[in-house]
Amino acid sequence: MNNQHLILNNVTKQYGTQKAVNDVNLALHAGECVGLAGHNGAGKSTMMKLILGLIRPSSGSITLFGEDISRGHSAAIRCQMGYLPETVALHPSLTGKETLDFYAKLKGTDLAHNHALLERVGIAQSAHKRVGAYSKGMRQRLALAQALLGEPKLLLLDEPTTGLDPASRQMFYQIINELKQRGATVLLSTHALAELDGHADRIVVMKNGHKVADGNMHELHIQSGLPTKIVAQL
Ligand code: ATP
Repeated sequence: MNNQHLILNNVTKQYGTQKAVNDVNLALHAGECVGLAGHNGAGKSTMMKLILGLIRPSSGSITLFGEDISRGHSAAIRCQMGYLPETVALHPSLTGKETLDFYAKLKGTDLAHNHALLERVGIAQSAHKRVGAYSKGMRQRLALAQALLGEPKLLLLDEPTTGLDPASRQMFYQIINELKQRGATVLLSTHALAELDGHADRIVVMKNGHKVADGNMHELHIQSGLPTKIVAQL
């Protein structure tokens, strides 16, 4: 049981009469990459916010690394999480290095590791260039470096590869595979399901707040880029 990093137990998040997340059960294991799929409004972002502790469940419980986080995260738990939002606020007049140093100070991680982190995401040679001059791929790599600060054991990625060039996309999946090998857990929301083939161990499909499917690519019949069974579920 202690290889279960994250457990959602009958989790519901209600806004007025609407259940953005409705009675969801989910367990994510160490070393697992899980894709979170579903149309706009399905409840994916609400799930991520619940796990991040930005909002609290209306009912049900969430356990992370063995600790109940339903009513808030301890600082120790927070340090073990990394998050890449769909849109990252990067100040254009700061350099890549200054940006990462800023986030490292916020998170309380050692600045000495930042150069290696910029190398890992392939932008060390541009560390002293202003972010305003970065391409979309470089900005997203910098945003990923921010999410990797402190070597998180749980990484949440919200649409990380949307609009990315092929080389950056490949780098993202390479890093995800490295994280998995180190025993970290990755939860990644995406519309590009076929892209997850060979990287995601499971796909969780959301619809109207409900979890409507949970299985590997083969079980969900994702073939040739056509998520046939998933399309039927949506
Ligand atoms: P997208 O891909 O567009 O981000 P999503 O799957 O992430 O969609 P959510 O953002 O989780 O969906 O929203 C699920 C439902 O909950 C939507 O109908 C949304 O309007 C509603 N919702 C989300 N946040 C709030 C809020 N703060 N107040 C009221 N309703 C909300």
